[in-house]
Amino acid sequence: MQKVTTPYRLGAVKGREHIWIFSALILAVMLALVLRQLPEGPVLTGIVEICRFVGDVFKQALQMLIVPLIVSSVIAGIASLHGMEGFAKLGGKTVGFYALSSFLAIVVGLVLVNLIRPGLEDGQPNEVIKAAFDESAAEAGEAEKGKIEGAGEKKASDIWDLFKRMFPKNIVSAATDNGQLLGVITFAILFGIAITRLPVHEIETLRGFFQGLNDVMIVLTRWVMATAPVGIFALIVPTVYGTGLELFAKMGTYFATVLAALGFHFFITLPCLLFFLGRVNPLKHLKAMRTALLTAFSTSSSSATLPVTMRNVQDNSGVSKRTSSFTLPLGATVNMDGTALYECVAVIFVAQVAGFDMGFGQQFVVVFASLLTSIGVAGIPSASLVAIILILRNSGVPYADVAPFALLAIDRPLDMCRTAVNVFGDSCAAVIVARSEGEELEEIRA
Ligand code: ASP
Repeated sequence: MQKVTTPYRLGAVKGREHIWIFSALILAVMLALVLRQLPEGPVLTGIVEICRFVGDVFKQALQMLIVPLIVSSVIAGIASLHGMEGFAKLGGKTVGFYALSSFLAIVVGLVLVNLIRPGLEDGQPNEVIKAAFDESAAEAGEAEKGKIEGAGEKKASDIWDLFKRMFPKNIVSAATDNGQLLGVITFAILFGIAITRLPVHEIETLRGFFQGLNDVMIVLTRWVMATAPVGIFALIVPTVYGTGLELFAKMGTYFATVLAALGFHFFITLPCLLFFLGRVNPLKHLKAMRTALLTAFSTSSSSATLPVTMRNVQDNSGVSKRTSSFTLPLGATVNMDGTALYECVAVIFVAQVAGFDMGFGQQFVVVFASLLTSIGVAGIPSASLVAIILILRNSGVPYADVAPFALLAIDRPLDMCRTAVNVFGDSCAAVIVARSEGEELEEIRA
């Protein structure tokens, strides 16, 4: 089987990028906490607005890379495979792993939310949280309401919508919409397969073109990431500054439940899968992925992080372009372990607060719905709230239209953590599939 190779390691990180990013993150949190103590005024607003502006520019620069990167890497990756046999096997393993890891994540969430029962107090629905739900809904302006509702209709009106979105009627407009990336991927996969069906002499130039395009995109990613410490600093300051602490105090147990479940999946489940399925040293892989994890944490967007994830997995963990080009773009769009887990915990939590008794059967439906909807959730900030509304409504839970406002108010820190889990899950899939395809991965082998 022919392997796509690059004569040199484009964008290999030899410096201390992650240390710069981490320091920027800590500094940003400290600055934001200091700013929160100061009286409001034009100077303070100015600082926060400048940070917001710089952060948006950085995030958009990363997003600008997504479509050409996905298209070139998926097409170049598949076009390098000879015949459909290898591709079908690779696809089957990847999708199988995605389903397994998301299912395990949801089960952890399900067990913890039933054990800790964050929505109850002394076995009864927690009245303080219920009041907080009503308050946040009343505070949320019409614009906020429209945002959640609109997103719901457009991105996840029903599960079948997902399959429709795999085949967009217009590939160019799909490429301009973050929620339609799945359509772009389907198109790129079909395009890549079609290339393998033509005689080699006819498609040599085309194949070289996509390979070259992909190499250029990797260099561009390196350039954008050179500004990451500043960009991430600017993203974090307004986030921490604007986060009210009152609601956190009321929903502290819920917060802790989500973090504990995400932590379990991140530190126990995924490392076990890495070790037992891939014979990979989890610590070494975690170290290899640190820049991508910090970027995911700061941007709350697995799509925006994709260029960095690809670079880390290829350069630091040593996964071939062939495997990573297929598993990672697909994973960033359809494989969201953290999101799936979060949806399940959030829905059962709201049911507990609302005093809605969810029996085993209904919880099973929630597990299944979380698994399916997490596939359709876009890799952008707070996207899973839409899926949560959908599941709550379908399950008939009271408060389905009110609770999401309270969840939205405290969503950002949880989103940062679940996005990091999503990205780590994708990277684990790439590594495990690569090992099963016989790749050595000297850098991270157990
Ligand atoms: N922000 C998440 C991601 O981009 C999606 C979500 O759970 O809201 O992966």
